[in-house]
Amino acid sequence: MTLQQTLSIMKPDATRRNLTGKINAKIEDAGLRIIAQKRLCLSKEQAQKFYAVHAERSFFNDLCEYMISGPVVVQVLEGEDAVAKYREVMGATNPANAAEGTIRKEFAESIEANSVHGSDSEENAANEIAFFFSQIEIVG
Ligand code: ADP
Ligand code: MG
Repeated sequence: MTLQQTLSIMKPDATRRNLTGKINAKIEDAGLRIIAQKRLCLSKEQAQKFYAVHAERSFFNDLCEYMISGPVVVQVLEGEDAVAKYREVMGATNPANAAEGTIRKEFAESIEANSVHGSDSEENAANEIAFFFSQIEIVG
């Protein structure tokens, strides 16, 4: 077990439906600490850069348009095995496949508008955290 940090994003479908508190409760109930958080609107360029790994996928343009369709809340979460733990708390990408009690099972609207993002490896977490936060904004 190692103390890790991971990047979370509450996506526009979640902010639009006023679900940020309910999602934070699931995060904190799982033992993850929210050690940085801010609400912002992504630019098209930021969305494209953040999801650059998916640039060749058929859904890339729609995904970027969706991510700029409203405010997002970006967060740094900290805890034991935070990367894998938050992936568990989120549930599967497609809410139809997400386990009972997960954020996506409870709140996601579709495979695209699936309420939250979470880093998928410790290395990507470090890069994604640095994309949004400076060290002085992260208070453990
Ligand atoms: P995850 O967010 O679970 O890590 P991916 O990294 O594979 O999933 O995809 C990034 C995001 O792209 C997803 O969270 C979702 O918003 C969107 N997405 C993934 N697959 C599809 C798809 N088949 N159709 C539409 N949007 C998708
Ligand atoms: Mg991913």
